[in-house]
Amino acid sequence: MINVTVWNENVHEKDERIAKVYPEGIHGAIAKMLGRNEELKIRTATLEMEEHGLTQEVLDDTDVLIWWGHMAHAKVSDEVADRVCKRVLDGMGLIVLHSGHLSKPFVKLMGTCCRSKWRENDETERIWVIEPAHPIAANLPEYIELEQEETYGERFEIPTPDELVFISWFSGGEVFRSGCCYKRGLGKIFYFRPGHEEYPTFYREDITQILENAVYWAKPSNGPKPTLGHYEAIEKVKDKFEGQDDSVRKHENLYK
Ligand code: ZN
Repeated sequence: MINVTVWNENVHEKDERIAKVYPEGIHGAIAKMLGRNEELKIRTATLEMEEHGLTQEVLDDTDVLIWWGHMAHAKVSDEVADRVCKRVLDGMGLIVLHSGHLSKPFVKLMGTCCRSKWRENDETERIWVIEPAHPIAANLPEYIELEQEETYGERFEIPTPDELVFISWFSGGEVFRSGCCYKRGLGKIFYFRPGHEEYPTFYREDITQILENAVYWAKPSNGPKPTLGHYEAIEKVKDKFEGQDDSVRKHENLYK
């Protein structure tokens, strides 16, 4: 089983026009689509919940966190944002969707401002798979076309991705790095561009396939925890500090 938490600020959905597209919220739609895979144990969390639904217990029990946010980025408490970042560094996968590129955890983990061009004009987005052998591209066609989406354009102010899986073209002429993979600490991060609240993008089978692929890619690998700081020699070697006070060289292992 992979424990997936789908987080959504759930603010746009209070507007009747958006609620028509996502009556159960964007988080509800993603949870429903991904939940058809019995290997995924899905839970949802929203901004209005206590600690935004992201308590330490919930995060500790989350293998992959999916994040959708837009107009309420500033309402996410620094404490919860820091908690998310720390869990990512400790191995939790993070999938950041659409306008989540300006969320506190993503901006903090990237270290850049993460802004881009944007335009709401019902244009077509064509998402090109540029790394067909990448796990996130599994079972996809050469490109996916979303008839209407919000337009984003370069420059997208992010660090150069470790791996770039998708590039989007928009009918207005822009291009955008729309599937970006990063590693931070022990955690894997995938930024995926589509998913403006006005369009039913998250009900699509191809988009669900990408999110599912990303969950499997981002889940913790359960490799050995690295030892950072002071450690004992594996082989028998002469201890140059023998007989001296240990406190000068012993520090806590950060990954205990
Ligand atoms: Zn948008």
